[in-house]
Amino acid sequence: MPPDRRVERQAALRVALEDEGLDGLLVTYLPNIRYLTGFSGSAALLLVLPDSTTLVTDFRYAVQAPSEAGPSAAVEVDQKSVWDRLGRLLAATPAGALGIESQAITVRDAERVAGLTRSRLVPTGDLVERLRAVKSPEEVAAIRAAAALAQEALGEVLPGVRTGQTEREVAAALEAALRRRGSEWHPFPTIVASGPRAALPHAGTSARPIAAGEWLLLDFGAQVDGYCADLTRTVVVGARADERQRTVYDLVRTAQQRALEHLRAGMTGREGDALAREVIAARGFGDAFGHSLGHGLGLEVHEAPRLAPTADAPLPLHAVVTVEPGIYLPGWGGVRLEDDVYLGADGAVVLSDGRTELVELV
Ligand code: ZN
Ligand code: ZN
Repeated sequence: MPPDRRVERQAALRVALEDEGLDGLLVTYLPNIRYLTGFSGSAALLLVLPDSTTLVTDFRYAVQAPSEAGPSAAVEVDQKSVWDRLGRLLAATPAGALGIESQAITVRDAERVAGLTRSRLVPTGDLVERLRAVKSPEEVAAIRAAAALAQEALGEVLPGVRTGQTEREVAAALEAALRRRGSEWHPFPTIVASGPRAALPHAGTSARPIAAGEWLLLDFGAQVDGYCADLTRTVVVGARADERQRTVYDLVRTAQQRALEHLRAGMTGREGDALAREVIAARGFGDAFGHSLGHGLGLEVHEAPRLAPTADAPLPLHAVVTVEPGIYLPGWGGVRLEDDVYLGADGAVVLSDGRTELVELV
């Protein structure tokens, strides 16, 4: 049995609170609550004080919350209003500096909290998110398992993809295979984009039938123990790739491989991003790669850290990130390849299969 990570996570958070001069933190962002307590429901407030952690939730989670949180938090279930219950908790707490999660709390809820306490509210940013960026071995294993499951589902579905099928038919087959193989949920809406729609980086899926010789871009995820994998593959359907398709594909693949080989913890997100961007820009396609190279993966499909031209922060040791360069040419289509990478002490470890040789479904 691995140690109960929630104990060390809360201890690390208390150190961060002390560094910030805070006497407590009101955690309202659900993925952060899950990280600190294991509670996976859709409604909760978590009050972290120097000597106590209290989870407030409602009737729907009266059984689930204590069972998931175990010893990590005292659970209070309020039949009427979680805010009233929070007010009673705060009234019993000495006034001081209480952090709120400015990246997540609504203005309305912040005003509500202000009305419940004599403490001074201090907007904080990303205190728990910074902890979440550093993964434990169990978290890395869950992401690896999610990636394996996603690849198996793709391997099952791709051989059946034919010219004339619609994007949605392919997405339905893929999503069914993901669920059958044990994905808890789709961490984001599946993208299956054909032909010119492959030039839309966040295309979703449509009723468009796939024609022979077109790109088919599939960007999809899987979730295991709450942890997400995120993969993209781009294939040609119904014909061999033509010259231009091959050229663009090889360039994206070369860019991705350079990043996978050289990405390291300690680099800034900007330096990581540049590993792939330089390759694409050197061949004149810089303007066609308009998004960042990657993002952190964990309980959320987009979390810290970022690999982006605007990311100055160093990539933490034990982070898990995606590496997903793309080239998008409006009217023609696009290619993106995405794999999931763990930044360990000995360099980057690709958690997905990294199998990106060009697939032609003929
Ligand atoms: Zn993706
Ligand atoms: Zn992604």
